[in-house]
Amino acid sequence: MADKRRSKEKFFVVGEVRRGRLAPLCRELAGKARQLADSAGGEVTVILLSDRLAEDPETLFSSGADRVMVVEHPSLALYNQEIETNVLAFLLKKENPAVVLAGATTSGRTTLPALAARLETGLTADCTGLEMEEETGQLLQTRPAIGGNVMATIRTPSHRPQMATVRPRTFPLPPASERQGEVLFPWIPPSLFESRVENLGFEEGDEGGGNIQDMDVVVSGGKGLKRPDGFGMLRELAALLGGGVGASRPVVDAKWIDYPHQVGLSGKVVAPKVYIAAGISGSVQHMAGMQTAEFVAAINRDPEAPIFRVADLGLCGDLFEILPRLIERIREEKRKP
Ligand SMILES: Cc1cc2nc3c(=O)[nH]c(=O)nc-3n(C[C@H](O)[C@H](O)[C@H](O)COP(=O)(O)OP(=O)(O)OC[C@H]3O[C@@H](n4cnc5c(N)ncnc54)[C@H](O)[C@@H]3O)c2cc1C
Repeated sequence: MADKRRSKEKFFVVGEVRRGRLAPLCRELAGKARQLADSAGGEVTVILLSDRLAEDPETLFSSGADRVMVVEHPSLALYNQEIETNVLAFLLKKENPAVVLAGATTSGRTTLPALAARLETGLTADCTGLEMEEETGQLLQTRPAIGGNVMATIRTPSHRPQMATVRPRTFPLPPASERQGEVLFPWIPPSLFESRVENLGFEEGDEGGGNIQDMDVVVSGGKGLKRPDGFGMLRELAALLGGGVGASRPVVDAKWIDYPHQVGLSGKVVAPKVYIAAGISGSVQHMAGMQTAEFVAAINRDPEAPIFRVADLGLCGDLFEILPRLIERIREEKRKP
């Protein structure tokens, strides 16, 4: 009986489409959902909301999806939490899934709490680990807690679906498989695309090369940079390393750099291969956004700075001396045949 129930379990991923293109986390989460579904005998569905998809949704089958549900509507051109919540709640109420996963991105962190409230269930935000518990069929949702000082594992024992947002780049991209599936275009009541929110427009930030959550290298600066133009050095270093620029909150508050660059509790959570922190003390709020980076290098003139506790490489000294030398050295290396 238990097996029969489990074989029907549905695992849903709320994908993210940016200007028609699938964000990398669609594949990442499809792969993770596949792994979870396999351990519970379930099936994986990815939902894509967009005004017009510029990519073939079938590419997600090779990442683990059995079904891709595509909802295209002009009102989805710009992010609208109300419409996304309406559409997702409508689909998920009909499908009654066991698990729903989404990215812990700006839009995921905005839509999913509203969606969880609408579905009258719980939500674990910013997960860094997800496993199915075999005996209970429950999703074990692990995330850093208390400013990152402990890892908490959270369950949703009595409500469904079990919902979690996942920090981008937490799980490896799945290897491509030969899996085939179905693309569905579900009917949505037109009234669900109506919103009390008026979108006045979309202004491109100065993120340049893209979202720091998608990057292998993030070079971040804090108050130790002293002045807004201190970011010039960081941009140069980031460009040489093919990465993006991050920042601590005070320098964003001071308008030295735009909010999309802020890393931390009230900014973005990044998990790059390399995170370089220059002139950042390492507050718990900042570290909540970067401590899952694979390798952390910190530059700080204070040997007692807390950032050194999480750093794999600590450079204790003046960043105005260290950064130009580092940039020059990398340039030299690049010039070598
Ligand atoms: C609810 C809440 C949410 C928050 N969210 C965030 C968040 O999302 N992200 C975030 O970052 N903060 C956040 N904060 C703020 C956080 O508490 C810290 O104030 C902030 O992270 C400190 O930023 P900082 O490291 O740039 O500055 P500071 O703590 O002032 O550190 C500057 C560092 O630069 C070093 N330095 C100075 N000059 C040099 C030099 N020439 N060479 C080398 N090193 C030098 C200093 O030794 C010092 O360690 C939040 C706070 C609260 C209360």
